[in-house]
Amino acid sequence: MLNIHHIVCNMLQENCYVVSDETKECVIIDCGVFFDKDKEALKKYITDNQLKPSRLLATHGHVDHNLGNAFVYDTYGLQPEVHEDDSQLLEHLPEQAAYLLNMPLEEPQPPLAPCLTEAHTIQWGNHCFTIIHTPGHTEGSCVFYCAEEGIAFTGDTLFRGSVGRVDLPGGSMFKMMQSIRHLSQLPDTTRVFSGHGPETTIGYELAHNPYLDR
Ligand SMILES: [Zn+2]
Ligand SMILES: [Zn+2]
Repeated sequence: MLNIHHIVCNMLQENCYVVSDETKECVIIDCGVFFDKDKEALKKYITDNQLKPSRLLATHGHVDHNLGNAFVYDTYGLQPEVHEDDSQLLEHLPEQAAYLLNMPLEEPQPPLAPCLTEAHTIQWGNHCFTIIHTPGHTEGSCVFYCAEEGIAFTGDTLFRGSVGRVDLPGGSMFKMMQSIRHLSQLPDTTRVFSGHGPETTIGYELAHNPYLDR
């Protein structure tokens, strides 16, 4: 059984997920906490539920999904983990903040943990995520998939009713279509948790999202 909590963060309404199980261990996915209220909500949820954060995962290297990395590193000692093809993005968060958000990002950024690839699995608590590499929105976008629980964290690759933009550096519509075709093969009942917007399922998207096809 997984408990999935989300906090809508920063100026881009990004979803940060805290995922825990019966062991009380948790992983933090896409920590975009930026405003004080975002940080307080994250810390309060973890404290109130007596959780022990063990991994800090990023579905991709965009700044809106990683604004809280320094806070998580300072508070819980976790280093961010991202697919190897997005490590460059994560190493240049201040430049991204200037370019995408038109704001300075002055906090020192934590060192990256060793990069993820599809060869890795993410073991935590009593659960395991596999990594599905889904380039298109960025080169190193990936989906964290828990087959046992039928749950996928899709970042900015798949949204309810749409897919992520492909016009930013590293984006490719061709790769996005391949990645979406790959995700279309997941079971219909798979619950999808996106980087922005509401929860959905693969079955709902196959019926309603024009980008999905089997
Ligand atoms: Zn993005
Ligand atoms: Zn985003």
